[in-house]
Formats: sequence, structure tokens, C-alpha cells
Amino acid sequence: MIEVSHLTKRYGKKYAVRDISFKVNDGEILGFLGPNGAGKSTTMNILTGCLSATDGVAKIDGIDVLEDPLAAKKKIGFLPELPPIYMDMTVEEYLKFVYSLKKCDKNALPREEHIADICKRVRIDDVYKRLIKNLSKGYKQRVGLAQALIGNPEVLILDEPTVGLDPRQIIDIRNLVKELGERHTIILSSHILPEVQATCSRVIVINQGEILADGTPEDLSKVLSGGQVIIVKMLCDKDAALAKLEACPDVRKVSFKNAENDGSSAFVIEGVPDKDVRFAVFEIAKNENWPIIGVENHELTLEEIFLELVKKQEKEKKAQQEVEE
Ligand code: ADP
Ligand code: MG
Repeated sequence: MIEVSHLTKRYGKKYAVRDISFKVNDGEILGFLGPNGAGKSTTMNILTGCLSATDGVAKIDGIDVLEDPLAAKKKIGFLPELPPIYMDMTVEEYLKFVYSLKKCDKNALPREEHIADICKRVRIDDVYKRLIKNLSKGYKQRVGLAQALIGNPEVLILDEPTVGLDPRQIIDIRNLVKELGERHTIILSSHILPEVQATCSRVIVINQGEILADGTPEDLSKVLSGGQVIIVKMLCDKDAALAKLEACPDVRKVSFKNAENDGSSAFVIEGVPDKDVRFAVFEIAKNENWPIIGVENHELTLEEIFLELVKKQEKEKKAQQEVEE
């Protein structure tokens, strides 16, 4: 459905995106994950024909976005980072305005029915007659989603759709995106990992304009650690424990995290793949008489994932250079 090859956008000497390629299949919900400045909005703006590329090709359903922007745009509903909503219009006025802007086919999509159907889907039918400026942020965002849905596009591109919303509204929008995914191919961007994990069937990690990883959320975590990571709090001598844990064959990596108020020491322990490292840790603690105060799973943060991916990328680049030399 979406095909991007060797896309590059440069501002002067600076690359906003650099030689990125990916495909999105029909019905997929793809998450674009990356920190601020990674190149997410740039890519989305190019895909939606709002921005030209320096190099490369982007196609929607076989149509080149840069060669035939009008035909491509018909296939896309776009929710930009700042939704293009008019505060002084009512929801009704605004959606009718968008309907005429998009030159919707009156026979295929009769105006009243089409708009009523969308309002029901994104649950704004109860504020249809209200001024947009008087709506809560969550409602405003849903009005933004509604305008993207007008014309019934096959593809939805949503740039950070939950930014600035409260937790309740975030959950609403996530559920909505999942529902929309049943009828549309979706790309959404986010700088928050759980966001992408909650909604997407596939994730592309982007940093400094380059793609670092592309796969299912599960693939991603496997690529990253390969082993289980736990945090263990023990009453022990910190250095003695570090030495014992480092020497254990089931432990791949161990580091001291912090000293706790209760006198215990917390360690981050990564196991070797396909083994439950807790057993080995328990064995050591038992033999040394170090009471274990707590054990918990360590969830990788976005920062850690990036660090790991960047490290991995550098390693691969170096290995490739060595092969070439
Ligand atoms: P994201 O959406 O992931 O936060 P962007 O795509 O907005 O990132 O930006 C990617 C990079 O391109 C950033 O470093 C940004 O500063 C730069 N950039 C974006 N727009 C412009 C512009 N008009 N002129 C110069 N640099 C820009
Ligand atoms: Mg952005």
C-alpha cells in the first residue's frame, strides 16, 4: 500500500531524513518511533505531499506522491502534529467545510450520512453543534481525526496523535486508532514506546533521520536484549555480590543500580538467552546467605532501546567496513 524508497530530505547540509526505505502492507498499523527531531514529521509530511523530498520515491497504492500529489492525497487522511482545525467554527461547519475542500463524491459519499457516520465512529456526535474552541483537548483531537476520515481514505497518517492529552484521553485515542485499523492502513508516530506497543502491529525505529530497526514489537525486544533483565535487591556486600554474579555463567551482564534505604543493594542483571536467570541468582544468594528483598522485571525504556540500537548499528557498520577492507 505504501512504498518508500531511498527517501532523503536535506536542509542545507543537515539531513532531516537520510536514505530511508520501507513498505507498509494493506491493513497494517505501523508505528514510527523516535525521539524529537528524529525525522518522523518530515517523513509523514513527504508521504502526504505537504513537503517535497530532496531525493527518493514515495508511493501510495502505486501512485507517486511527488509526481501526482492530487491523486495520492485522495487516498490519504492526514492528522498533522498541529491539527488544522478552526476554533471559531462549530464541528458541523468545520467538517462540512473539509468535505467540500476534499471535493468528495456526493453520490458515493452523501454529505450528511458520511459526516454523521464519521462523527459516530470517532464519538463526537454529542458535540456536533458546539464551537470547536470550547471543546476539551481530547475532543479537539477527535475532530482532527474526523477531518482525516472525510473522503474515506484507505490510508491514515497520524502524527503524534496523543501528544498533550491526559491518560484517559490517550486510552480513548489508542482504542480508536485500533478500531480504525480494521478498515484503514495506518502510520502513526510517537516518541513514547508503550504508545507504539499498545497500538501497532509493526514498529520502525528512527533516529537522526535513519531507520535503526523494523519489525514487530516482540522482534524488537528480542533483537535488543536476547535475554531477560531483572532488578534484584539483596542484603549483601556490593562488591562481593558483583564478583559472584559476574562469574555466574547464566548471567550475561550485571551492574550495580543503587543502595536502598533498607540497607540492600539493587542490581540490574541480564541473563543469557533462553534461560530464567532468577534461578541462578537465587542459588548464589542462598549459598552466600544474602537475603533477597525483591525481584522485579526490568522494562527497557526508550532511552535504553535507543542506546542499544545505536550501539548495534555502530557495531554492524564497523563489521561491514572490516569485510570491505
Ligand atoms: P520529529 O517529527 O521526529 O520530531 P522532524 O521531522 O520534525 O522530527 O525533524 C527532523 C529534523 O529536521 C530536526 O533536526 C529538525 O530540526 C530538522 N528540520 C525540520 N524542519 C526543518 C526546516 N524547515 N529547516 C531546517 N531544519 C528542519
Ligand atoms: Mg514531529
